Amino acid sequence: MTGFLTALVPLDAPNDDFQSLFATHPSPMWVYDPDTLRFLIVNNAAVDLYGYSPQQYARMTVLDIRPAQERRRMLNAVYARTDMEKAERWTHLKANGEMLEVLTYGRAVRFDGRDAILAIVQDRTEVNAAHREVTDTRSLLDSIVDNLPVGVFVKDMEADGRYILFNEACGSIVGFNAADVIGQSDRAIFDDKQTAIFREQDAQAFEAVSTISFEETMRRVDGLPRILRTVKRALPAPDGSAPRYLLGISQDVTEERSVETRLAYMAMHDALTGLPNRAYFSEHIQREAAHASAENPIALLYLDVDHFKHINDSKGHAAGDALLCQVAARLTALVRDGDLVARLGGDEFALVLRLTEDGCIERFAERLLSVLSKPFDLDGVNEHVTCSIGIAMAPGHAADDDVLMRHADLALYAAKESGRSTYRFYEAEMRREAERRHMLTVELREALQKNQFELYYQPIVQLDDDGLGGFEALIRWRHPERGLIPPMDFIPVAEETGLIVPIGDWVLREACRTAAAWPQHLKIAVNLSVCQFRHNSLLATVVSALDETGLRPERLEIEITESVFLADVEQSLPLLRALKELGIRIAIDDFGTGYSSFSYLRAFAFDKIKLDRSFVSGIESDPGNLAIVRAVVGIGSGFNATTLAEGIETEEQLQKLRDEGFSEVQGFLLGKPMPRAEAEALIGVGASSLLAAAGR
Ligand code: C2E
Ligand code: MG
Ligand code: MG
Repeated sequence: MTGFLTALVPLDAPNDDFQSLFATHPSPMWVYDPDTLRFLIVNNAAVDLYGYSPQQYARMTVLDIRPAQERRRMLNAVYARTDMEKAERWTHLKANGEMLEVLTYGRAVRFDGRDAILAIVQDRTEVNAAHREVTDTRSLLDSIVDNLPVGVFVKDMEADGRYILFNEACGSIVGFNAADVIGQSDRAIFDDKQTAIFREQDAQAFEAVSTISFEETMRRVDGLPRILRTVKRALPAPDGSAPRYLLGISQDVTEERSVETRLAYMAMHDALTGLPNRAYFSEHIQREAAHASAENPIALLYLDVDHFKHINDSKGHAAGDALLCQVAARLTALVRDGDLVARLGGDEFALVLRLTEDGCIERFAERLLSVLSKPFDLDGVNEHVTCSIGIAMAPGHAADDDVLMRHADLALYAAKESGRSTYRFYEAEMRREAERRHMLTVELREALQKNQFELYYQPIVQLDDDGLGGFEALIRWRHPERGLIPPMDFIPVAEETGLIVPIGDWVLREACRTAAAWPQHLKIAVNLSVCQFRHNSLLATVVSALDETGLRPERLEIEITESVFLADVEQSLPLLRALKELGIRIAIDDFGTGYSSFSYLRAFAFDKIKLDRSFVSGIESDPGNLAIVRAVVGIGSGFNATTLAEGIETEEQLQKLRDEGFSEVQGFLLGKPMPRAEAEALIGVGASSLLAAAGR
């Protein structure tokens, strides 16, 4: 029988057809003797699959194709016939030692005149392996999905939107046990409102071809509101037909959003006062200015606390902060809904008001000044401050927000110029004035380059011996067209723009150079601006001026005003001390006109007090001025400082000051500021000529 495995023993009564079917059947098969367990006949497929040769089969029992640990089960099954007529799972051993996972199907047959068992084998090795792979992959995917930090869910929309996937993260976002959600639809989990929202989203996702995202605040089961960001997408059924499933990926973005909100708030608000900041203000004023009309005008008020820096320096930063917060609170209490109060930085505030009637803005500004004039409580101490306010209106003064801001700024500048503690409306003249200042700055820069400055010298007379004590150097600008310009017309602008620093340097060198050539007993007084004290280079400039010219430091007198103490004391004081240490004398100029207290007299030992000329004029008739003059003499002797009276214009004034015991005098009566040549001619003659000319 070709192709047929040599029958170990011929099969009982089977005809040729059956034998051929048995031999060539693709399923491995054999017949064995249940008593001896020997193979009786084995087909080709079995030979091929197991790799044993027919000769080997002839010597083997069915136990031989089983691994040791399966043999006992096999014996039991054969004896009890339990594996008959049904598929049984076994592990078989191939000739090469490999294991086969098989299903066997046993059946009692008669073979060669005895009872035998036909075993039909189905090789499951590959199928099982493939199956295992699928299961492994699936459980890997499941565990990935469950461990994703984002919520992933799938709903079967053909089954009432029931969840077929709902990972752990989803559970913690909505506050449900993920396992309880599977098989449920939204209705069973969320309230009607939330369910309706989800339904609507699902419907949108089904309509859209691509992924769409949603963000909404939802309430967790425990009532906690969470901001949920979900992307949804319809997925087709497994056969690729119409969409059936809804895939959703959800994230709890509550924290993220609250950080964003906080950052956005911080970017737009001032940390100290909580008021809107400059960035906020800029956007606001742009919008408001654009909408302003003759019927609905707006007012922009810039408000600045006068001498805030002084409070900050003298009372400390905590007090400064407290003051700003209280100012902020008072401003906020004054405005109505729709108005804005912003802090632009430092002690600068802005108010944007929507106006209803003309003229009410004046009343508002008055009220503002009065509310701010009430004392502030700075750590238990009552402090009075004043404020300056600049006002510009839209569309009246400007339609554009940039121009409006510039105009309010000019008005504020004017309010400060006019003595502070007041408000000013923008006027066209202010713009012209600003342009003039700008022009002046340009010209001043040029003047410095072209050497257009000159020093005039005003004599200082000592009253004890009627001798010439020295001169005060006073700057003049010889303008090519406008002639000689007095310092008051350009020094303030030079101070504003910082040009005073190079100009001051020049004055210092020029004055020292001139005085160095004079007799040794004559002093030279030089005025320094407060701005020059803000520059660390001041000390070096003074030292190099002295070095260059060879002037002895004792002959140099530096005049400063009280404003030095209103500015940065911490910076000014050490500088003043260092200058004094060099041997330079320090005089306080325009004494009595400042805003500061007398405390600076204690803080620094001035060498000279120059009483302002406003106290000298009228001294003859005004008993108040005389009292001040006397007090200054007292202060001078108390602090061991020389006293000088400025602005002596009459013989009578001179006599009074002499009587009161002033040490020095200066004034038109004794000599106007004069060019260098005239001053030097005077030195030759001596002070007696001045006094003689003055009628003494
Ligand atoms: P100051 O330092 O108080 O100078 C005295 C001013 O009073 C001078 O005005 C002087 O001409 C004027 N004066 C003197 N005696 C009399 C008088 O009897 N009657 C009247 N009515 N005035 C008198 P000037 O030269 O116009 O200077 C004005 C101010 O400009 C100075 O006041 C000083 O503060 C400032 N200044 C002048 N030169 C300089 C400078 O080089 N640097 C700085 N930073 N400031 C300067
Ligand atoms: Mg002076
Ligand atoms: Mg003066």
